[in-house]
Amino acid sequence: MAWLNSACSSNKNEDMRNEVEEFDYVVEQFADCRVLRYRVPGFDSLSLQQKELIYYLSEAALCGRDILFDQHYKHNLTIRRCLENVYQSYSGDTSTEEYKNFLIYLKRVWFSNGIHHHYSTEKFMPGFSKDYLLLLIDHSDLKKLPLLKNESIDSFKLRITEYIFNPELDKKRVLQDADADVVKNSANNFYEGVSQSEVEQFYKTVKNEADTSPISYGLNSKLIKENGVINEKVWKLNGMYSPAIEKIIFWLKKAVVVAENEQQKNVIESLIKYYESGDLETFDKYSILWVQDVNSHIDFINGFIEVYGDPLAMRATWESVVNFKNIEATRRTEIISKNAQWFEDHSPVDTRFKKTEVKGVTAKVITVAQLGGDCYPTTPIGINLPNSDWVRKNYGSKSVSIQNITEAYEKASLSSGFLEEFAADSIEIDLIRKHGGLAGNLHTDLHECLGHGSGQLLPGVSSHALKSFHSPLEEARADLFALYYIMDNKMIDLGIIDKLDVAKAEYTSYIRNGLLTQLVRIELGKNVEQAHMRNRQLVSKWCYEKGKAENVIEVFKRENKTFVKVNDFEKLRILFGQLLAEVQRIKSEGDYNAGKALVEKYGIEIDYDLHSEILTRYKALNLAPYNGFINPEFVPVIENGKIKDIQVIYPNDYIKQMIKYSEKYSFLPNYN
Ligand code: ZN
Repeated sequence: MAWLNSACSSNKNEDMRNEVEEFDYVVEQFADCRVLRYRVPGFDSLSLQQKELIYYLSEAALCGRDILFDQHYKHNLTIRRCLENVYQSYSGDTSTEEYKNFLIYLKRVWFSNGIHHHYSTEKFMPGFSKDYLLLLIDHSDLKKLPLLKNESIDSFKLRITEYIFNPELDKKRVLQDADADVVKNSANNFYEGVSQSEVEQFYKTVKNEADTSPISYGLNSKLIKENGVINEKVWKLNGMYSPAIEKIIFWLKKAVVVAENEQQKNVIESLIKYYESGDLETFDKYSILWVQDVNSHIDFINGFIEVYGDPLAMRATWESVVNFKNIEATRRTEIISKNAQWFEDHSPVDTRFKKTEVKGVTAKVITVAQLGGDCYPTTPIGINLPNSDWVRKNYGSKSVSIQNITEAYEKASLSSGFLEEFAADSIEIDLIRKHGGLAGNLHTDLHECLGHGSGQLLPGVSSHALKSFHSPLEEARADLFALYYIMDNKMIDLGIIDKLDVAKAEYTSYIRNGLLTQLVRIELGKNVEQAHMRNRQLVSKWCYEKGKAENVIEVFKRENKTFVKVNDFEKLRILFGQLLAEVQRIKSEGDYNAGKALVEKYGIEIDYDLHSEILTRYKALNLAPYNGFINPEFVPVIENGKIKDIQVIYPNDYIKQMIKYSEKYSFLPNYN
């Protein structure tokens, strides 16, 4: 790896670190997408039973892949299969520019789980002509074309080119437009033959508004009008998507046998019942069991969960995440949280604004083992479920952060050239490479577990006193609490870090981000709007200005490029403490004018020339804005017909994984 220090080290820990870092996180980049890999640290230390459980749940996670393609657009499976057939059997020249563009298009279809962009939901256009696609089809295996019953090849070609090349046909998967019929004008496969008002009317008649524990209406069905009658086609065993659901159930039944405990067994069994019946009350029962299962080491999501794909936010796309608890990282948040009172007592804020009794929050940190459906390849970095309001209110929710995914992002960024472009010197680059990962995670832990919960309002002060300046100031308070303490020897005493270099890495990257690099996310000519970004600029600019006389933070130019450098970490820590005291005072006293002045002076405005320079430098790095992940694979080691072990391997070929998935986990007909 480019960032590895090649110097040989006799230190065992160093060797292990190198081993970990030699993993290639970046697989490839095309269009606006970048494909990464993630590791599953800790998998080898699991028991055989736990490994088996992860293996079965992972198989279940892959079996729903076709469902998502079909939910996104009812012709997606046909299109995908047609393109895959070309990829696998085209006999012509594959070295041409047009063929390369064909490959890019196919990869985009896989990446977005369909022909609409995964993020904007707009239909994307191929970089080759209609005639070229027809040529590709003609020189591929015609027997494997995904034809409808009794369909001629000619009418198939007519149809498929229309779906792909007509820019006006089904051009947006999810239309969010108050003036239009969002049901009729969205290309997703959630509704057919019905208008928005018909859908609304349909649910008005079935919903009971007085019900305090309503089911999630429409969550697991397609609404369709046939012969003048509107009906829900439920996604269940022997219903719509049955061939895929059957396989999911098959693997879940295997998982039941190796469940870690009774409670987890109940969770999986109730999920099977739900898939078998399609009954949404059973789904609620399952959700309650799931949210109450906090003792199992392994956890998973598998089902119709998130409703972003439906403009009416009723119907859920299918997704799956298999994970287990990251003991080490969770231990870190537990230590921090256990010592919450010490941190509160020693913070540099006025005693009147401190809590006499403070409780830290323990953040659960997990390691993802497999992603499926709507979580693949683009994945969340945190999960907060279930979605049902009354279930959350009565039974709580599970909120977790996914450390191996954030770690993959972090490591991938190290090889992107970003650091080389924006860091002040090689010392800083080394510091970040060595400690940046832990530093970032620790900052987040301190921010979430302690920062937001610290401090108190003076009696009579309203929590709304700071109005629109509340959010950036609240984020600043939590960040400053984290920044102040990450450099404290207490971190070493608690065994969380072994040297303050971790803190130095955080200080440098925080200031560089706040003064320079976060600007890449803002359009030229605009101000800083987002609360977290306002906070980071506020903190960084304030410290730069206050430390100017002593050159605590230096801003300098080299070859007409702007850089920042922290010269004095100790003094910077004192400045963080001073600003923390002031921001806490503002919050505790509800001093609106001082808060407003602080945010307006430091947090909002951007120097136009600097912004333009940063954007130009960033653009030259040619980084794709959207990241997705390929999955690890779990391979059972079988001896005498019995599973002896499960091995994890990390494929690094995106096309191979996609073709494998299409061969092994494709159960649905072309047209559902
Ligand atoms: Zn926050």
